[in-house]
Amino acid sequence: MREQIARRFRRLPPTPAVHAQLSLSGDRFERIHGFRLATYMKLTLQIQLFPDKEQAGLLQLTMERFNEARSWLAAQAYELGVANKVKLQQLFYYDLREKFGLSAQMAALCIRHVGGTYNRDKNIKPVFRKHAAMPYDSRIMSFKGVDRVSLLTLEGRVIVPFVMGKYQHERFSLAKGQSDLVRRKDGKWFLLVTADVPDKTPIRATDFIGVDLGVVNIATDSDGEVYTSDKVEGVRQHYRRTRRSLQQKATEQKRSGKRPKNVRRKLKGLSGRERRFKADTNHCISKKLVEKATGTNRGIALEELTGIRDRTRFRKAQRDKMSKWSFAELRGFVEYKARLAGVPVVAVDPRNTSRTCPECGHIDKGNRLVRGIFLCRQCGHFDHADVVGATNIASAAKVAWREVAEPQLERAA
Ligand SMILES: [Zn+2]
Repeated sequence: MREQIARRFRRLPPTPAVHAQLSLSGDRFERIHGFRLATYMKLTLQIQLFPDKEQAGLLQLTMERFNEARSWLAAQAYELGVANKVKLQQLFYYDLREKFGLSAQMAALCIRHVGGTYNRDKNIKPVFRKHAAMPYDSRIMSFKGVDRVSLLTLEGRVIVPFVMGKYQHERFSLAKGQSDLVRRKDGKWFLLVTADVPDKTPIRATDFIGVDLGVVNIATDSDGEVYTSDKVEGVRQHYRRTRRSLQQKATEQKRSGKRPKNVRRKLKGLSGRERRFKADTNHCISKKLVEKATGTNRGIALEELTGIRDRTRFRKAQRDKMSKWSFAELRGFVEYKARLAGVPVVAVDPRNTSRTCPECGHIDKGNRLVRGIFLCRQCGHFDHADVVGATNIASAAKVAWREVAEPQLERAA
């Protein structure tokens, strides 16, 4: 065993002088040494519903009435200081049915939910928005195959078609009965279905893919693949321009004494669309990275994220742009996708990753005189700066893995 490991690491390039710190506490360490057996992770599958006009009307009416009933019941519970579900049932079941027209199952669901919410914090009187997500459990909802779902409304059950993506499809069999019906502001309907997905047994990584996060390119990996496109940058700039002109308009309207309500609304919609676009991009990048790692028996090495925004390698103008991209989200996506695929994730200290030569280990600010280009002042090694960063991150992870995780694995074997 020891020999095998030694052989495996003899092939590695010379160790560059990069600080490699592994946090050995809690969850992350478990992820690194990977002894943990099958555990489960809660995922939410988002399924878009396509109700016809009549069905949508019924769903909306049901949702509004249910939320009205919930708020009313919560007020009663708060006033009396009663969170006990049996007691609430005895006191208010008939009111819920008569006042709000809820069916027997819906009234029961309403009582369970209000009891639970109020019980969590008795100092707050829960109030539910008109279109707050409505819980649906197996008593009032059932799937009819893989493309239709039966939902109970105030006027009986409606059978609504839905469409699942490949991702949802693969995990659909793990879905439990618990779901939430959601009406998005743009009028689209979704079912958020809870699923328990087992983790894969972690692979024994023999190598790592280093990932450099940056301003010009969102992510660059140590294989030299760059994860950004003109499209990303184009869309980013488009949103920026639109936002700026809308903000200007709002200021002008305010100055002339008008309330810039329309402009405000547009701005809000814009930020939602931009957020979804960014989340989509982050999903794509993380998916590609994890697929690559799974296919080649490698782990993934990321920079420790603390302080990524005030790192000196970003100039002021870039920092503004930087803060607009959610690296924390990207990292979160990588981590949970990796966990599901059994790919270990190692976090390394990002200090010097951009100025260390991966060939000779020379550390020098001057190695990066020109933006985007790395040129070692000692050995003349020349490469794309982000690729150098990613390579150093991968090397640091290998060192840390060899020093910390492998001995642990051996001891356990
Ligand atoms: Zn060098």
